[in-house]
Amino acid sequence: MANTFKYGGYKGQMLRVNLTKQGISKEPLREDWARDFVGGVGYSARLLYEELPAKIDPLGPENKLVFMTGPVNGTMIPAASRSCACAKSPLTGSFFHSIFGGYFGPELKFAGYDGLIVEGKSDKPVYLWIDDDRVEIRSAEHLWGKNPFKAQEIIRKEIGDEGIHVAVIGEAGEHGTPYAIILLDIRAAGRGGMGAVMGSKNLKAIAVRGTGSVSVPNVLRVYNTTMRLNELIATNPAVKGLSDYGTPRNVASMNAAGILPTRNWQTEVFAKVDGITGETMKEKVVKGHRACFACSINCTKYSVVPSGRYKSIINGPDYETIYGFGSICEVDDIQALCKADEICDEYGIDLISTSMAVAWAMECYEKGIFTKADTGGIDLTWGNADAMLELTEKIGKREGLGALLAKGTREAAKIVGKGSERFTIENKGVEWPGHTCRPFPAAAVGYATGPRGGSHHDIRPTPEKSGMVDRKVLEGKGALASEINHWLILADSALVCHLGESIWGPMKVNENLVEALNAVTGWNLDYQQARKIAERQWNMIRCFAAREGFTRKDDRLPIRFMEEPVPEGPMKGSVIPKETLERLKDDYFTYRGWDLKTGNPTKEKLTELGLEFAIKDVC
Ligand code: SF4
Repeated sequence: MANTFKYGGYKGQMLRVNLTKQGISKEPLREDWARDFVGGVGYSARLLYEELPAKIDPLGPENKLVFMTGPVNGTMIPAASRSCACAKSPLTGSFFHSIFGGYFGPELKFAGYDGLIVEGKSDKPVYLWIDDDRVEIRSAEHLWGKNPFKAQEIIRKEIGDEGIHVAVIGEAGEHGTPYAIILLDIRAAGRGGMGAVMGSKNLKAIAVRGTGSVSVPNVLRVYNTTMRLNELIATNPAVKGLSDYGTPRNVASMNAAGILPTRNWQTEVFAKVDGITGETMKEKVVKGHRACFACSINCTKYSVVPSGRYKSIINGPDYETIYGFGSICEVDDIQALCKADEICDEYGIDLISTSMAVAWAMECYEKGIFTKADTGGIDLTWGNADAMLELTEKIGKREGLGALLAKGTREAAKIVGKGSERFTIENKGVEWPGHTCRPFPAAAVGYATGPRGGSHHDIRPTPEKSGMVDRKVLEGKGALASEINHWLILADSALVCHLGESIWGPMKVNENLVEALNAVTGWNLDYQQARKIAERQWNMIRCFAAREGFTRKDDRLPIRFMEEPVPEGPMKGSVIPKETLERLKDDYFTYRGWDLKTGNPTKEKLTELGLEFAIKDVC
C-alpha cells in the first residue's frame, strides 16, 4: 500500500491477525487517533478502550494484544528504538503497556505497519511470519516448550535469514504465569504479563522482516534535530554514566544516599554493596556494549561468566537485576546475579516480579511463616545466592514453592495469610522496581496513582532525588507528579526511550521531545498543545481502569512504605503515612480535575479533553 498518510513518521497502516479465524487483514491507521493520541501507548489505549468490553478475562480469547510503534520510532532521532506491547493485564486487570527496545519495533515499521493487533485464540500453537506485505500464520507445534533463545534460533534457520527480528515467549508465557515476558531478540517487554496474554492465544512467536523505510516531511530538519540531540547526549554526565556502566551506574551512590532498597525493603542501605556496583560489574563480567536501534546512549551491556556454577551469558545485568536479586535478597555476588538474569530469560519471566517473589519468600522464612517443609528443603536465608537461584528456577518451572510464587506476591500472600501481606511490596498486583518513594512525596503519589502500579516508568523520583525540588515539602507534589506522568506518556507514545530522561523530561514535557515529534510528523505543536495530548492520554488510561471498577481506594502503597520508616542511613525516618498519602492524592486529583471521592475523571475534564465517549462509563 502506498503511504499516503497525512502526517510524517507514520506508515498509515495497521496489521490485524485473528487467530480464531486464522484471518489476516490490513486497515488504515486512524488519522484522528494519530493526531489526538500520537501512537504507541496513547493510540493503543484508545484502540483497546474501543475494542475490549469491560471485565473480560485477560487470558481469554476476547483480550487483544497490540504491538504498537510511534511516529518517532524507526527514524534517526536518538533512542527512538522503543515500541510497546499492550493488553488488559493478567496482573493488574486493567490496561497495561510494556515498553521494549531493540530492533523489533523499527522493523515492523519498515515492513509497512504502525502496529499489529492480535486477537482471538488459535487452536494449536502458531507463530506469525511478517515479511513486508506477505503475512503468514505458521505452525509452532515444534517450538512449544522451547526456551525463547532456542525458538528464535529455529525460526531464523527455518526462514533462512539471520537478520530477522523475533518476538517470542518462554515456558512461563505458554502456561499463563501472570508476569511472563515477551523476549524481542535480546530485549524484553518485561512487565505486566504480556507474555501470558500472548501464550493464552497459543501464539509462540512473531518474526518480522521489513525492507522499507520511514518518511518524514523534511529530512534536513530531522537530521539537524538528531545532531543537536546527539550533542546533548554526548555532553550530559548522567547519560555518559549510562554508556559506561549501563543502568547500574548509580548503585554505589544510591547506597551512599540511603536509597538502595535492601532486604525486601526492610532498609535502604546495603552493607555489602561493593560486590554489586556498576564498577564491580564492569570489572568482573561485562564484555561489551550493545545499543538499540539508532541509539547513541548505548546503555546495554553484554556479560559473560565463563565457568563455574554461575556460568551464564546475558545482556545486562541491568539495575533492576542488581536491585532485585542483589540488595533485595542481600546477595553480593555479581556472577550469581548474572545467572539469575539468565534463568529469568530462559523461562520467560519478569525479573523484577520474580526477584520480589523470592525476597517475599525469604522474609516469610525469616519470620517463621515458611519453614523448610514449605520451601522443599531450601534454606532461604538472606544472602544465600544458591537458594535464590534454586527458587528462581522453581518459579520458572512452577514447581513446589515456585508454583505459589508464580502467581505473583499479592495472590501468594492471599493464599498463605498469617500476616504475609505485610511483606508484599506491590501496587495493583505489580511488584515494585528498585526506586524508593519513602523520602519522595511526588514519587509516592505517582506510584500510588500509577496505572501500572509498581512501575518506575509512570513516575520518576529524579527531580526530588537530585534536589531540583525540595523533597520534604508536600505542597505542589500533585502537580509535579502529574507533569512527570505527562512527559513519560508522551515519550511512550512518540516512542523514545525514557533513559534519555534528562533530554525528554525530567520535570515536565521538555522542548526536545516536542521538537522531535514536530520534526518527524510535520506538526507544529507548542508546549501547551503537546502537554494537552499527554493529559488526554493519561486520562484515557484512567478511564479504562475506572470502567474496570478501579477507584481511589486502589491507589495505594505497600504497607511497609506507610508504616515502617527507613531505619538507618541518610534517609532514616522517611515514611509516607496513610494520612499523608491521602492528602497527596487529594492534591493530585485536584490538580488533574478528577473527582476527589472516586478518583475518576469528571465530565468536565473528559469534555475538555475530547473524551466525551467515556463519560457514560466513568462519571
Ligand atoms: S538508552 Fe539503552 S535502552 Fe534506551 S534506547 Fe538506548 S540502548 Fe536502548
